Amino acid sequence: MTQELLDTMPALRVGRPLVVAIDGPSGSGKSSVSKEVARRLRLAYLDTGAMYRALTWFCVSKGIDLEDSAAVEQAARDLVLELSTSPLEEYVRVDGVDVTDAIREPAISSAVSAVATTLGARTELIRRQRELIEKHHRRMVVEGRDITTVVAPGAEVRMLLTASEEARLRRRGIQLGGTQNAEQLAAQVTHRDAKDSSVVNFTKAASGVVTLDSSDLDFDQTVAAALVIVTKVLNRD
Ligand code: C5P
Repeated sequence: MTQELLDTMPALRVGRPLVVAIDGPSGSGKSSVSKEVARRLRLAYLDTGAMYRALTWFCVSKGIDLEDSAAVEQAARDLVLELSTSPLEEYVRVDGVDVTDAIREPAISSAVSAVATTLGARTELIRRQRELIEKHHRRMVVEGRDITTVVAPGAEVRMLLTASEEARLRRRGIQLGGTQNAEQLAAQVTHRDAKDSSVVNFTKAASGVVTLDSSDLDFDQTVAAALVIVTKVLNRD
């Protein structure tokens, strides 16, 4: 789909609310695809996973016991977070400290589920996510695990981006520069998803959510397919 065509579609015009909610497991290509979709549609972009990762980094740096749910919940309220909402730049800062790279370290990836399954912490991060969507006049691509179902069930477009386990392990392995062995990779992808799914369902599309299976698609094809879904859903309504 050409940029000219996208830019002239009435349903995509500035001033109209357009929240594109994208959920999916790790390694589905969610972040890179969501970012590119935001860029193409000229929307803001919110990586909610980065918020859970930043909170995890904050708890670890403060020596907070991740099993202590009251302390994790309090940390979620205390968290001073600055996060890019532009698809054109990436930064995450906690208390003014740049943690953009640190939150992607394996140590944070293995600890994040403990934080994300603390319900009080989720409530606080969900509140902040909804606030950010409003702040951007409801023109935003928001990606995560519970966006289509909990954070923004009223989003104009709701999508579940999936991929086979094999494809997800392969992509995460490449992303991490091939430095992880099979066991470490499985811990980061499969085991993390299993833990996460104890509080949120992101493996089956809820009613009204369109599934996009990217197992056999490359990046450009997945972006194109996502844009087709956006335009189809908007033209239908
Ligand atoms: O998307 P990413 O892999 O960076 O997400 C990191 C973690 O944040 C997930 O494994 C999950 O525990 C948590 N998360 C969540 N709800 C979201 C987004 C992420 O629980 N909406």
